[in-house]
Amino acid sequence: MTAITNHLPTSELQALDAAHHMHPFTANAELAEKGVRVITRAKGVFLTDSDGYEILDAMAGLWCVNIGYGRGELAEVAARQMRELPYYNTFFQTTHVPAIALANKLSELAPGDLNHVFFAGSGSEANDTNIRLVRHYWATKGKPEKKVIISRKNSYHGSSVGSGSLGGMTAMHSQGGLPIPDIHHIDQPNWWAEGGDMPPEDFGLARAQELEKAILEMGEDRVAAFIAEPVQGAGGVIVPPDSYWPEIQRICDKYEILLIADEVICGFGRTGNWFGSQTLNIRPDVMTIAKGLSSGYAPIAASIVSDEVAAVIGSGEFNHGYTYSGHPVSAAVALENLRILEEEDVIGHVQNVAGPHLKQHWEALVDHPLVGEAKIVGMMGSIALTPDKDSRAAFSSEAGTVGLICRENCFANNLIMRHVGDRMVISPPLVITPAEIEELVHRARKALDETHAQLLAKGLM
Ligand SMILES: *Cc1c(COP(=O)(O)O)cnc(C)c1O
Repeated sequence: MTAITNHLPTSELQALDAAHHMHPFTANAELAEKGVRVITRAKGVFLTDSDGYEILDAMAGLWCVNIGYGRGELAEVAARQMRELPYYNTFFQTTHVPAIALANKLSELAPGDLNHVFFAGSGSEANDTNIRLVRHYWATKGKPEKKVIISRKNSYHGSSVGSGSLGGMTAMHSQGGLPIPDIHHIDQPNWWAEGGDMPPEDFGLARAQELEKAILEMGEDRVAAFIAEPVQGAGGVIVPPDSYWPEIQRICDKYEILLIADEVICGFGRTGNWFGSQTLNIRPDVMTIAKGLSSGYAPIAASIVSDEVAAVIGSGEFNHGYTYSGHPVSAAVALENLRILEEEDVIGHVQNVAGPHLKQHWEALVDHPLVGEAKIVGMMGSIALTPDKDSRAAFSSEAGTVGLICRENCFANNLIMRHVGDRMVISPPLVITPAEIEELVHRARKALDETHAQLLAKGLM
């Protein structure tokens, strides 16, 4: 077999990919027909593909490359760690310096008394840990029946059997026998799509109170925890009304329900603070972190838990763990990423430079004939596409048809912007400059113009 390298023509790479590579969340036969895009390099906020196109990555990979691409420091640290100690486990009453240092650093950064770190390899794994951890916590406290976890429709918590069950994606539940028992889903605070005639703040309150209703229906002694993303990411960057989170916090406190904040996207500067819980002013007992923890340079994730939860779990053996829990190379890379975030004041850049600039240009998109609302928190944003802004109407085509057309137009304009149904979402690297933000929005507007013209031509609006 000839070596497969960057030097092969794109068509050959595409054929080889189609022959043997099964893509996640993809209709593979359809993709094989169309031809996959091959990404070969990246620097800063730009990807390069095998045809030499430079693409502005407004998604930071999958919401994760917070410090941008091409930071050689992380490569150096990984190489050094691989030479010194490429792997050792943390099961056998053993540890290593990268895991010690990262757990200490995270406890310093995490708010309140979130001081104890259980490592995993991915966000899905960390949320699987959380399912077992909160149930075991209550069982240890003599309440084994307190095991229902309440989550939300259209939330995303990962793709394993456990985390996919926590998530509220119907398309995922319809395959492979999800959800597992004792997971209960309430409605999401998505005012644009589901708020009807209610004012947003009333709607936010009503949606939060669904949590109280669910607890009262099932009984407080049955409910272990509530899990939510501070701002829903994969569900379409759904920014809840201001009334939502204070009410959720009140309910969790009142009924002694553990609050799990899934910070996999919101963590590490994405919302303008270290954690989304700080931006949304919530006090979780457990936090899920991944993605921005290493800026995606190496796979690593964790659950960070409070002093009290750690004390209860630590009173006996917790029969749980992963081969790669606290992997030394990933932990060393994460530490270097955190050093860069801190020393280069990347979060200050989000607060004072990139965040305000992106907000100004992003929100200006509402004057486009296709855009109903433009939402932004820190460096995660969304726009709702609609044929009628006043009624917040959906398109008559199947949901996602227009979003997909818009995404294809973005791609054609060398911009990666994702669609979730007929919402377009962005989550660029946090280090993006004002000039790059203007280029991002310029390309987005061009793609919107083209989408608008195509919809009119096809009679879709
Ligand atoms: C991506 C994501 C996950 C899952 O993380 P993986 O590393 O893909 O397993 C969990 N929760 C949220 C909020 C996410 O965005």
